[in-house]
Amino acid sequence: MTQHQTDYLIVGAGAVGLAFADTLLDEDPDCHITLIDKHASPGGHWNDAYSFVTLHQPSATYGVNSMELCPDRVDTHGHNAGMYPLAKHAEILAYYSKLVSERLIPSGRVAYHPLTEYRSGPEDAAAPVHTARHILSGDPVTFEVRRKLVDATWFKTSVPATHTPGFAIGDNTRFAVPGDLPDLWQTSDDLPSHYAIIGGGKTAMDTAIWLLEAGVSPDAIDWVRPRDSWMMNRKLLQPARHRLEGLIEFQLSLAECAATAQDGDDMFAQLEQRGTMLRIDRDVTPSMFHFAVISEAEVAMLGQITRVHRGRRVSAIEPAAMIFDDEQVQLPQGTLFIDCTASAVPFEQRGNARPFFDGSVVTLQLAQTPFVPYSAALAAFIEANFDNDQEKNNLLPPAPLTDTTATYPYSVMANLMSAAILSNNKKTNAFNARSRLHPTGPAIAQMIKENDPRLAALADIGPTIQSHMPAIIKLGMAAKAIHESAG
Ligand SMILES: Cc1cc2nc3c(=O)[nH]c(=O)nc-3n(C[C@H](O)[C@H](O)[C@H](O)COP(=O)(O)OP(=O)(O)OC[C@H]3O[C@@H](n4cnc5c(N)ncnc54)[C@H](O)[C@@H]3O)c2cc1C
Repeated sequence: MTQHQTDYLIVGAGAVGLAFADTLLDEDPDCHITLIDKHASPGGHWNDAYSFVTLHQPSATYGVNSMELCPDRVDTHGHNAGMYPLAKHAEILAYYSKLVSERLIPSGRVAYHPLTEYRSGPEDAAAPVHTARHILSGDPVTFEVRRKLVDATWFKTSVPATHTPGFAIGDNTRFAVPGDLPDLWQTSDDLPSHYAIIGGGKTAMDTAIWLLEAGVSPDAIDWVRPRDSWMMNRKLLQPARHRLEGLIEFQLSLAECAATAQDGDDMFAQLEQRGTMLRIDRDVTPSMFHFAVISEAEVAMLGQITRVHRGRRVSAIEPAAMIFDDEQVQLPQGTLFIDCTASAVPFEQRGNARPFFDGSVVTLQLAQTPFVPYSAALAAFIEANFDNDQEKNNLLPPAPLTDTTATYPYSVMANLMSAAILSNNKKTNAFNARSRLHPTGPAIAQMIKENDPRLAALADIGPTIQSHMPAIIKLGMAAKAIHESAG
């Protein structure tokens, strides 16, 4: 049996494990890092995603700290025109592959073991040996871990290609996952007569837009959308170095609406008035908020689909019918059902929060919702630059993974509190000012250096938010109670 030695054993080479490794490599110049992952290549769930997926947020703040992800220019066409690029599936995979093969491994301090499954921790605390298995050979492999195990699998990301749908699929039913759609041209003599999208999240929206842009008529699409969702307006979430005003408006609108709202729904209604939040159908009040980011052009396209089935879930599909608990909906023969029901981030994880730093284990979660790679990089910085778990955990309480309109004010409150903790600490404040994954830090640092006149717009933010904090906390605590009662 092969036994390796390392300081940090990171389980999971997705966005989280890689952002952590990339920052730790710079912050702790003496440590050795080992990454293991079941997948054959770096990038985690992105390996399994549909080929037409893109980031929904601008690429400027996704990936790892040491490498830009996309060119610094605006898109000139399509539904993201006028905004900064959203990395495409192939670009994300190439980016992570380049990171591992051109930076991490050549550093001489990082080992990467793909196709390797973590099995168990040490049986004897005095001999910290962790066990894994080479997936193809079945051979065991062990790692003696001198410092810490880093769990970068906490998010339990789920995508349609790898999850099992929760409904029955009758014989001879045409069934697909979004990743199958680009191959439809190969069956041009047997194309579907109709499409049924099952699921109400961002994957379903991507799928609907793909079909519409491919020329499918909106009338040829039925859409099972159990819950409607609010989405963040991408126009306001552009890179700070170019569009700081948008981010200022986003932040101010969150604080001001949270301060005056009666509850989560009221807050979203006010945010819509400010242009911060968008929804597909203005006659329906959404109850879901999964932090999706979308453009106004995409919302307009999605609004063309009117055959929407709300408030219930499909229990079975047949060649020409969808079966709900209380009704059967007939569809044309030859309908293609597209499963978009995987929950990208299973929000059940909400009940599974734990301290980031716990003895010999680091569990990577959210520090600020929904900044996944930033949270992991920040955790690496804190791991390398602070002495004990208590000090580290005080800087990094896990942020709540809220998923409804009723509970989102809890996230808003927690993010503002976390931002205050981090900016009051000299070291984490300096990290934010240079972390490309932080939405505003480096841009503001640069403006300060250049005495940029745009800084004037920032002057009011701190005092305004501070004046609203008591009301934000009142709404946030009520939302927290709802969040915690949901388990
Ligand atoms: C379609 C889609 C689009 C998204 N777009 C955005 C976006 O624009 N912006 C944004 O911020 N977020 C986005 N997200 C969310 C975000 O990308 C994910 O939350 C993030 O990538 C999660 O990364 P991860 O490393 O935790 O998980 P994963 O990518 O799932 O990586 C975890 C890895 O751990 C490995 N693993 C698990 N168990 C073991 C084991 N026992 N042994 C070895 N390896 C193991 C898995 O093989 C996997 O490779 C998106 C998510 C999806 C699904």
